[in-house]
Amino acid sequence: MTQLSERIVVATQNQGKTAEFRHAFAKLGIAVESMADYEGLPDIVEDGSTFADNARIKARIVGDALGLAVLADDSGLCVDALGGAPGVYSARYAGAGATDADNNAKLLAELARIGARVPADELPGGVEGLSAGRFVCALALYDPASGTFVETEGTMDGMIVASPSGEGGFGYDPLLYIPESGQTVAQMSKDEKQRLGHRGRALAKLLELLASRA
Ligand code: IMP
Repeated sequence: MTQLSERIVVATQNQGKTAEFRHAFAKLGIAVESMADYEGLPDIVEDGSTFADNARIKARIVGDALGLAVLADDSGLCVDALGGAPGVYSARYAGAGATDADNNAKLLAELARIGARVPADELPGGVEGLSAGRFVCALALYDPASGTFVETEGTMDGMIVASPSGEGGFGYDPLLYIPESGQTVAQMSKDEKQRLGHRGRALAKLLELLASRA
């Protein structure tokens, strides 16, 4: 991508993510629209084997269809004791149409099945940790004019805990304890999640990259 666009479209139907991206890109004078504002876009099959693959797939399909610069993200949870699962299957770990509660229950069941446990001397006080794990977010900004991408990745590292804690957030938030915060992601304020979170970190890197090229 040689030049910054004045307008980008985000490849998500999620209004919360669109608002987050809009707020961040306003600092660079770039207007953000959502793909939800456009009709007749092709179906997107997210069949990549990595988060970065899926972000590129989404950005390219929507960008080529609209002829506009498109930003796409893909994210999920990777658990060390499960060889990186659920990974790109995070949203449907317990099957198609699974709820957050179904996915969280499956994650704990899998960790119990293999007897995963973090050694006591590696644990912060009062935490029953089962495995190291992290949220990962890949971002891909695609320019259809040049066919090129700007890509970044952000992570939030922590530990999967045996008992879900916290009411905030969504998805696997109650199960990921973040040592630098001393609580699970579901117990964090929105501000703290944005500051320490995988999406916020990937976005900060992208903005830095774009600012350095402007
Ligand atoms: P998406 O790529 O943002 O749609 O996320 C895919 C799946 O990853 C979600 O359905 C969640 O299960 C999980 N996930 C991604 N980000 C988070 C997060 O910040 N908290 C909890 N779960 C997340």
